[in-house]
Amino acid sequence: MAVRGTMGRIAFVNLARGSVRRKRPEDELYLKYLGGYGLGAYYLYTQMKPHARPLGPKNQLGFLAGPLTGTPAICGNRFQVVGKSPKTGGFGDANCGGDFGPKMKFAGFDGVFFKGQAKEPVYLVLADGKGELKSATDLWGLDVAATEEKLKALYGPEAAIASIGPAGEAMSLLACIMNDRDRAAGRSGLGAVMGSKKLKAIVAVPTKKVRLADAAKMKADRTAYIQKMRETGLYELFHKFGTSGLTAGAVAGGDCPVKNWAGTAEDFKTASRISDEAVLDVVTRPYGCWHCPIACGGFVKTSGPFAVEGGKPEYETLGVFGAMLLVDDLAAICKVNDLCNRMGMDTISTGATLAFAFECYEKGILTKADTGGLELTWGNAPAVVALVEQIARRQGLGAILADGARAAAKKIGKGASKCAMQIAGEELPMHDPRLSPGLASSYKLDATPARHTQFSAWAAEAGFPVTGLEHLYGGWTPERKYEYAGKAKAHRIQSALMHVINADGCCMFGSVCIPAQAQADFLNAAMGTSWTPEDLVTIGDRIANLRVAFNLREGLKNAEFKVPGRILGVPPLKAGATKGVRVDLETQQREYFAEMGWSPDGVPTAETLQRLGLDFAVSDLHG
Ligand code: SF4
Repeated sequence: MAVRGTMGRIAFVNLARGSVRRKRPEDELYLKYLGGYGLGAYYLYTQMKPHARPLGPKNQLGFLAGPLTGTPAICGNRFQVVGKSPKTGGFGDANCGGDFGPKMKFAGFDGVFFKGQAKEPVYLVLADGKGELKSATDLWGLDVAATEEKLKALYGPEAAIASIGPAGEAMSLLACIMNDRDRAAGRSGLGAVMGSKKLKAIVAVPTKKVRLADAAKMKADRTAYIQKMRETGLYELFHKFGTSGLTAGAVAGGDCPVKNWAGTAEDFKTASRISDEAVLDVVTRPYGCWHCPIACGGFVKTSGPFAVEGGKPEYETLGVFGAMLLVDDLAAICKVNDLCNRMGMDTISTGATLAFAFECYEKGILTKADTGGLELTWGNAPAVVALVEQIARRQGLGAILADGARAAAKKIGKGASKCAMQIAGEELPMHDPRLSPGLASSYKLDATPARHTQFSAWAAEAGFPVTGLEHLYGGWTPERKYEYAGKAKAHRIQSALMHVINADGCCMFGSVCIPAQAQADFLNAAMGTSWTPEDLVTIGDRIANLRVAFNLREGLKNAEFKVPGRILGVPPLKAGATKGVRVDLETQQREYFAEMGWSPDGVPTAETLQRLGLDFAVSDLHG
């Protein structure tokens, strides 16, 4: 019998041969890595030889739910996509809600891995514990909404579909993988990997149930923790406004970067036009991922030249197309959000790449001759919409920008790289280390750089509710956020907890509103374990080390990643909430490596790997 909470089955698809093999993972693997990118990291590391070309046949692409996906755990609806990232050349992952994760389990699978490349476009159908490849020649070229519509007509309205749009087909490194029309597995460029395999979609037909160790306890825990969650201000904010409720406050408070990280709130005084109440005004109905009690999403309808009906833009999207480009036209942002969702493009990376281009234009690095006449002046909403359309089709300047800011800077030359706000090829998200200095460590030191969904001391610095693990922080408290020594324990613990959340299949928004004990309670009720929150930290540590070991085996060292000076306050801002702040990343890095049991250049020692049961990585890293 499979470990409770799991389906005990993963599909391994060889696209070159057109074969689907099903395998039951050993129970121990679920207990060591849970699922999501924990189990994903294990399979990528052990199945894939190093140095595969990210867009070549030897790269592997995995879709993995967790043991809490499709269960009553609060926000237990996530899946993770993993593969070698074509953006960074290292470990790649992307997290997604919607309904695909639960329904993949209800189709009988905890996950599916793809290797090889199909000769012609295909899609995979998962149903009743079986997998079958089908021709997707009539789907190739369709946008995400049309693809879902066509496949739902074939497999029924309850089927869930993960797919790529034209951006993924064209192997744009901005491409993501979508499900439930507007939910994106956005980061790491994994939509391009899916496109390189000529894999258009996966259809999950739900017929099964997840068997739990103690279903009654799980239900009772859900009720109790929902009550607890409702007592937090964060729940109120997410439930009423979604993440869009953060925008104006984040601009004013210094969390949201402005004008490609060089501006301040003074440059964008009209942020309220793209925030909370203004967004609520165009919302037609709310949206929640599968069985989510928060339901932070929604659908919008706007009028005017950019009239659109589509998904509600999230904070990251509003920040990157709004504050970063000084665009306060909400309809234009809704339009580009819809365009990105239909074409299957990560809004964070797309918007950040636009901000790069706008700064290049301001500095004369790009001219009208390069832009085909478009005036890339700050706040020019029509130019933003036009350029996103060009990127989606790899036309005009869009052909240069379609692989992100780092690749574009390389093609453009003339010092353009100074305008590219990215780390190791991944564009930065909309949270500023000058306000929460712990972010600088997450952005540089996690295996997937430039990701706000990887935690460190910054979660506490940003005021997220307590985890119940504060006694392990070694006396550090968030009031001391600008003291750089002494926060490494908090970094390790918060980061480990987030690795567990990403591996067990829960959404971070719900999970940060309840203590770490909730994750332990839900996992124990689902899997029949008796873990404490401290046990979960060990699992998180294991996942952190394995993801970094993947990078090191590829020859990538986080210690060598270059961080744009601007995000560290070099030069310092002359105004605004973080005026004069200069972030000391060196101290944070040095102490974090020591706390993790890594060498001064960020390599896990043999003892650390062995302590965490990662003996198989010792010879790769230490000969
Ligand atoms: S909180 Fe929002 S993103 Fe998270 S599961 Fe719920 S609806 Fe989805």
